[in-house]
Amino acid sequence: MEFIQSEKGKPMYIDGNYIFWSDGFSKVDDQLLFWRCSKRLNGCKARLHTINGEVIKRINDHSHLEDNVNVNRVRVVGRVRAEATESRENPEIIIGNATLGLANEVRASLHIGNLKRTIQRERIRNQAAPVNPNSLETLVIPDEYRIITKTSAKKTFYYTTRDKKKTAFLFLKQTII
Ligand SMILES: [Zn+2]
Repeated sequence: MEFIQSEKGKPMYIDGNYIFWSDGFSKVDDQLLFWRCSKRLNGCKARLHTINGEVIKRINDHSHLEDNVNVNRVRVVGRVRAEATESRENPEIIIGNATLGLANEVRASLHIGNLKRTIQRERIRNQAAPVNPNSLETLVIPDEYRIITKTSAKKTFYYTTRDKKKTAFLFLKQTII
């Protein structure tokens, strides 16, 4: 049994070296979960039924080979997501630990910028204070800072990354209530 969440938090199930996306619960049995192969759009008709995380039925064979690289990639993403809320380590250390000992082809399939954003997003979602970004690619603006309302004044803020290479401009509008 192996549940995992995608970068965006969608439930996935790994069966052997195949990845399945959740297709929701049965309408007649709320313990019974349906899954479809992640390669469905490529024509694979393999499906699973699980109850309490155990496969009770496998429907149709896969129309493709096992996908070890992708399975390992989603495992790393799952580990990174879990660590993001369980520890307060900085993203580089979390990603370093999660990718330790990985085959080069798996490592090459990972987008480090996305993993860093996943960590930031996960921390914001859990209402932990966001960690100060040290590059633009890790900058995630929490929704509560995005509220745009009626305005009378406009302010400009400059944000410079530590490496001084990029500058972002945040235009904030002041509210008069
Ligand atoms: Zn398949």
